[in-house]
Amino acid sequence: MRLENMPSEFQEALPVLKKIKNAGFDAYFVGGSVRDALLERPIHDVDIASSSYPEETKHIFERTIDVGIEHGTVLVLEDNHEYEVTTFRTEDLYVDYRRPSHVTFVRSLKEDLKRRDFTINALALDEAGNVIDLFEGLDDLKHQILRAVGIPSERFNEDALRIMRGFRFQASLGFTLDADTFNAMKGCVPLLEKISVERTFIEFDKLLTSFYWRKGLKSLIASGAMDYLPDMRNHQSQLETLFNFQVDFQFTSSEQAWAALLMALQIKNIKRFLKHWKTSNAFQKRVEQIVMIFNLRQTHFLDKEECYRFELDLIIQAEEIRQAQGLAIDFERIYSTYDSLTIHDKHEIVVNGGLLIKEFGFKPGPALGQLLTEIEMAIVNGVLDNRLEDILAFVEERK
Ligand code: ATP
Ligand code: MG
Repeated sequence: MRLENMPSEFQEALPVLKKIKNAGFDAYFVGGSVRDALLERPIHDVDIASSSYPEETKHIFERTIDVGIEHGTVLVLEDNHEYEVTTFRTEDLYVDYRRPSHVTFVRSLKEDLKRRDFTINALALDEAGNVIDLFEGLDDLKHQILRAVGIPSERFNEDALRIMRGFRFQASLGFTLDADTFNAMKGCVPLLEKISVERTFIEFDKLLTSFYWRKGLKSLIASGAMDYLPDMRNHQSQLETLFNFQVDFQFTSSEQAWAALLMALQIKNIKRFLKHWKTSNAFQKRVEQIVMIFNLRQTHFLDKEECYRFELDLIIQAEEIRQAQGLAIDFERIYSTYDSLTIHDKHEIVVNGGLLIKEFGFKPGPALGQLLTEIEMAIVNGVLDNRLEDILAFVEERK
């Protein structure tokens, strides 16, 4: 098969393929970009696989960066673009079900495609637009099927992350898992415990934030994978409450998805749960705040002080979760309360501690801190203008 209209991303990258070929090696576009081009979906990164070894690749181009030489990857800088050029390779020994203990560079495209996870991810495209399809990936693309390359149980035994990737691709593409592939995934779920949490998080997170998240999540639950993910064991019925969300709802961010997940699971200690998932403190805080806002909103509209305390974006995300649950919503009211705030951050206040010390001879300490908070809240609540003379008069009264 030939891809008649090469997307511009490939056209721009063609000189890279041609340079490698002119140097006497083979080179192809591979992986997700080929799949997405054939599906007429937007293309993210254009990855190139080549028979040239990393040192050889580096000789061909003027500007390269070593990004993962041990895996065979060289970053090539060409015409203001960056391309990962990876040497054809096999991954022979998986001793701990995680990462290959050893990669071997090879000169054959076939060997390289064989080690890829799903048939639709094992397609290659040459510089003339010919699709190289050694595992009937085109057929699976057409029928919207996710099928492991080769013998499924072997593939998931080699690298259990592929199980999560399978659910993730289901969620992003809306495809169906081939029965043998799904059964093999199911049989290998205990190996998920051996996968690094960071890698699992990335796949689960992509699953949740994808358009067909319900589909991916259903398979994940049906496979029993939950029992081997951090803090998710025995929470199936709680997790399934997410399916009560409005059918066309898609999460707008990771933090929103995880906030909804945590609420569904009825997890009280959000920080601890997200720590077990090895997420950043900043992420934990934002998720926690969405849940906090959601809980406040169960009893009332957020007042000025609450709107001031949280970022608008998080308040909106909590309201969107309400919407997904079919609860009453009022985005206008959120915006108008937020707009009515005369300050959004305490640094916008025209006085600070230093100035009050100078004007009134206050001593630095908790009492001054309290006074500043009082000023801040009076401004937030609209009982005090953020003007120097008004604030000084306000302080004078309280001296
Ligand atoms: P996305 O559009 O989300 O980037 P992708 O298919 O490009 O999807 P990547 O994680 O970027 O996914 O990986 C690029 C390619 O590398 C895949 O298409 C697949 O061929 C191969 N690959 C990645 N991870 C694995 C894995 N764990 N096992 C086997 N092959 C893999
Ligand atoms: Mg990719």
